[in-house]
Amino acid sequence: MEYITESPAQTQALGKKTADELIKSIKGKSAKVFALTGDLGSGKTTFVQGFAKGLGTSARIISPTFILMRKYLVPGNKFLNFYHVDLYRLEGDTENEVINLGLTDIWKNPENIVVIEWAEKIKNIIPEVKTEISFENLGENKRKIIIL
Ligand code: ADP
Ligand code: MG
Repeated sequence: MEYITESPAQTQALGKKTADELIKSIKGKSAKVFALTGDLGSGKTTFVQGFAKGLGTSARIISPTFILMRKYLVPGNKFLNFYHVDLYRLEGDTENEVINLGLTDIWKNPENIVVIEWAEKIKNIIPEVKTEISFENLGENKRKIIIL
């Protein structure tokens, strides 16, 4: 599905809608992985802010500067954890780094919802079963967001 948003608020609303649909459809059989791709400033973190709101997390989502991964609790559902991962600063053997971070164990666990910014950096090891979301800056406040 392809969307054009015209403000950060619209991108957040799309993130929230995506989380709302996930919560409705969740069956707990496998981890839920969301692979976000697109350039700096294309709206990935903004989308994640809305997504977190849809999950009911009260924590403010920011772009982690040095921390690659943050874990949030999903209130009202003690079986679910939400991980926000941002691989922007990951360099070198990114795939090996991600294994060392423990991410491959995290995304195997059916109790986890994992949203990964800069997923293009680990395309060879990311799980096959995932939702792919690409972001493109169309200038000013316009962003193209494709959810596959
Ligand atoms: P990324 O995580 O992809 O680097 P961010 O979400 O951190 O991107 O930043 C997007 C920037 O673009 C923010 O400064 C935001 O205010 C701005 N922006 C303008 N229009 C939009 C839009 N339609 N959707 C998302 N962000 C937008
Ligand atoms: Mg970001």
